[in-house]
Amino acid sequence: MLPPQRDSGKLERPLVMHPLPYEGEWDGRIAYLDRDGVINRGFEDYVNTVDEIEILPLAATSIGELRRSGFRVCVVTNQSPVGRGLWTRDNLASIHTEIRRLLLLEDKDAHLDLILHSPYAPWENSWARKPNPGMLEASRQIMETAHSDPSLSDLTILYGPDWKDRPSEQDSVMVGDRDVDMRASDAFGVTGIRCNPDDGISGVIDSILG
Ligand SMILES: [Mg+2]
Repeated sequence: MLPPQRDSGKLERPLVMHPLPYEGEWDGRIAYLDRDGVINRGFEDYVNTVDEIEILPLAATSIGELRRSGFRVCVVTNQSPVGRGLWTRDNLASIHTEIRRLLLLEDKDAHLDLILHSPYAPWENSWARKPNPGMLEASRQIMETAHSDPSLSDLTILYGPDWKDRPSEQDSVMVGDRDVDMRASDAFGVTGIRCNPDDGISGVIDSILG
């Protein structure tokens, strides 16, 4: 198994999530978001440095709205440049730190509760690389566990047919701008919502929140 990765450390390292700006307990809804073309502008040859980050208009407000409406927010992003050796996981971590900073500058509720990436090249056939659903499977298990036990010390993440007792994803959503995102949504069993990469999440937020 080639598992998804967090920005640093182990996948099962502790995760302390910011309280939701929402009255009542989290009811299990997750907004799974692709990154490029959803939150920030994507480019054919990747977002390679902090300087290349361009947050899409109203993406921060949209993420704030999701959390104010009771969704936890998880980013699931294919980042094969890591596996291809073009740049390091540390570089990716610095890009994610800056994306988080820019989102919170615009909307104080626009926390990304979790970011998972797949560092693998396509020919590695990882279950964690979209269109496979491994990142979504891991996100659900990490966030559900972190909700009650942020240490994640008892978490063993299960994938594919090994994960039997799955919670319903019927009130959750996955937003992406590409076919691979929609295929991963289908494989995982969550409603996939496709956005235009020039508009990103703000173009579909009304259809999510109703
Ligand atoms: Mg994308």
